[in-house]
Amino acid sequence: MRDQIRSIVIVGGGTAGWMAATFLARRLAHLRIVITVVESSAIGTVGVGEATVPAIRDFFAAVELGETELLRETEATIKYGIRFADWKTRGHAFFHPFGLYGVPARGVPFHQIWLRQRAAGDTTPIGDYCLATQLAERDLFLPPSDRPANDLGVFNFAVHFDASKFAALLRRLALANGVAHRDARITRVALDPENGHVAGVDLDTGEQVTGDLWIDCSGFRSLLLGEAMGVEYRDWRHWLPCDRAVAVPCASDAMHRPMTTATAMEAGWRWHIPLRHRVGNGYVYCSDFIDDAAAEDALLGALEGAPIAAPNRIRFTPGHRDRFWERNVVGLGLSSGFLEPLESTSITLIQSGLERLLPLFPDRGFDPRLAAVYNRQSMLEFERIRDFLMLHYRGNARHGEPFWDHVRAIEPTAGLQLKLDAWRSAGEFVRNEWDTFQDASWLSMYAGFDDLPARHSPLADQFDAAGLSDSLARMRDAIAGTLRHAEPHGRFLSRVVGECA
Ligand SMILES: Cc1cc2nc3c(=O)[nH]c(=O)nc-3n(C[C@H](O)[C@H](O)[C@H](O)COP(=O)(O)OP(=O)(O)OC[C@H]3O[C@@H](n4cnc5c(N)ncnc54)[C@H](O)[C@@H]3O)c2cc1C
Repeated sequence: MRDQIRSIVIVGGGTAGWMAATFLARRLAHLRIVITVVESSAIGTVGVGEATVPAIRDFFAAVELGETELLRETEATIKYGIRFADWKTRGHAFFHPFGLYGVPARGVPFHQIWLRQRAAGDTTPIGDYCLATQLAERDLFLPPSDRPANDLGVFNFAVHFDASKFAALLRRLALANGVAHRDARITRVALDPENGHVAGVDLDTGEQVTGDLWIDCSGFRSLLLGEAMGVEYRDWRHWLPCDRAVAVPCASDAMHRPMTTATAMEAGWRWHIPLRHRVGNGYVYCSDFIDDAAAEDALLGALEGAPIAAPNRIRFTPGHRDRFWERNVVGLGLSSGFLEPLESTSITLIQSGLERLLPLFPDRGFDPRLAAVYNRQSMLEFERIRDFLMLHYRGNARHGEPFWDHVRAIEPTAGLQLKLDAWRSAGEFVRNEWDTFQDASWLSMYAGFDDLPARHSPLADQFDAAGLSDSLARMRDAIAGTLRHAEPHGRFLSRVVGECA
């Protein structure tokens, strides 16, 4: 008889804690495992984290959360990608879409065809061949097709949501699915002296909670993994120097654009996340290049409407814990690591951590090989995202600005260098295990920064020039035809949510 896990304790009731609770309650429903969330409303949550990537839709499906309900309950809007403004130079902008570009021909990737046309003097932006980009630029909504006719029709969407409303919605779902809940502060973590496992926690109510498997979702405090078990943190500031943020929501009468905007600033960048009831704003910056007061002033000066809450100053260290799973504790969310939200990757890392935990689900023996597999996967995911984020900084041409000169000069990691070499020499992508961002995402960055290969593939020369121009024009026409079936994003939200957007 196996020594099955009988209880799981989730420490923390932020986005990570409630995502873990809903997901595990659904997926382990028939194993009769008692799941308890311990959180302290007196401590609160980090209060940010409102932009997602399309994978979040798989999470909604996994926990049987309808998208209409999600949109309605969390003041959500649609996101087709991220607009990067002023990153290359002031006044320049490009878009990272959740979708593919163009249609390949005779096995030649579309971007090679586009590169050939560019070399011949065609200046059509690559975004003109991407449906997601065109939907976003025109503030339209169209649901992705289940069976697109070709790559032109391949796109997806993510959402922006109010993080506290999202956590509240998940909490309701989790409690309805039998998750137990304690609102109390943990005052002590007890370790088993024999094996170093977490045995239980003391609460400020005098109660003690014990459990077999512990999920540390305690935020930057990292109560179990960091504080109690002493798992070291790998500091990645030398690669990604931004280490602070100030966030403030504001009112807005503007139309809800189906995109996140990331605008480069003096010492970092600023996010703009449109929700139905307000706009989320934040300035992510490097404390070596600007002080907190100046960053706050710069953010407040850039708001499109009146602030509706006091600025929230947040300090962070980019990087991750040496181990994400240690003995009987798995860390999820900020307790396990954090990379700046430039590509909205934290929530997707929580989701992927949960998805990867299930196939490795332990029994009470906690075979250390399970943790080793999990830790390797988690580490690779973090490293791949780090490399993609570094690419955003490397391409800037904001010469003479101290922060931007500094980040441009940061030595690439070996993994990033490999990707850059393949791209610059052959217009080729290097694909890695546990890559969160695929070819089209890398292409959007390279094209956005005009970081193009010295030559296009010789295979793209096999096409007749006039025929190629015609087929590119047909692709643009096909996109224009599809756009006619889309509806304004604001109208879509009003219709679905049943209120004025
Ligand atoms: C500036 C910034 C911007 C971000 N933007 C994005 C974004 O756009 N997209 C994205 O995907 N992610 C983003 N993130 C990350 C995202 O906010 C987090 O990944 C997500 O909110 C999960 O946080 P968490 O649940 O791990 O921690 P928290 O929200 O901090 O929750 C921690 C929980 O632990 C509990 N707790 C702590 N100590 C105790 C104790 N002693 N006793 C009891 N309970 C305790 C707290 O009460 C709380 O419930 C951003 C993060 C930052 C810092």
